[in-house]
Amino acid sequence: MSKGLSKVLIRDRNAFPKCIRFFSEVRGICIGNCIASRALYKVAFGTEEVAHAHSMVYDKHNGWICLRYKEQLNQPYLLLHEVAHLLVNKKEYISIHGKKWRDKLIEIGGTVFPYTYFDFKLGIKFLYPGYDTRGCLYYS
Ligand SMILES: [Zn+2]
Ligand SMILES: [Zn+2]
Repeated sequence: MSKGLSKVLIRDRNAFPKCIRFFSEVRGICIGNCIASRALYKVAFGTEEVAHAHSMVYDKHNGWICLRYKEQLNQPYLLLHEVAHLLVNKKEYISIHGKKWRDKLIEIGGTVFPYTYFDFKLGIKFLYPGYDTRGCLYYS
């Protein structure tokens, strides 16, 4: 297996970060690549994307959150963003970053504003966008 294909699967709820442990909708966390993909990371996620959730009911990986880096387990706002998708975006007609998602995210303690995490070990600054009331992303 080449480096780009490696993934770590976390299925044990007790190993989930505390901030998302109690949402039964979270079935697992996949780190390093997309749970559904055997393709290289950049193909699986797209070049910019570093996280996503499998929220659609028809998706056999429904309930999984995929992260590029294990260090993202220490990013509660990112994790809550993805959990809100799992709770709300079960059907395609529900707007991805629309009102239902937005209201749920705020309800569970997440943020719709831009946020930043700096990981000292990786030396990476993670810049995450905010979402306006039309569902459009923006950076501060
Ligand atoms: Zn995925
Ligand atoms: Zn999103």
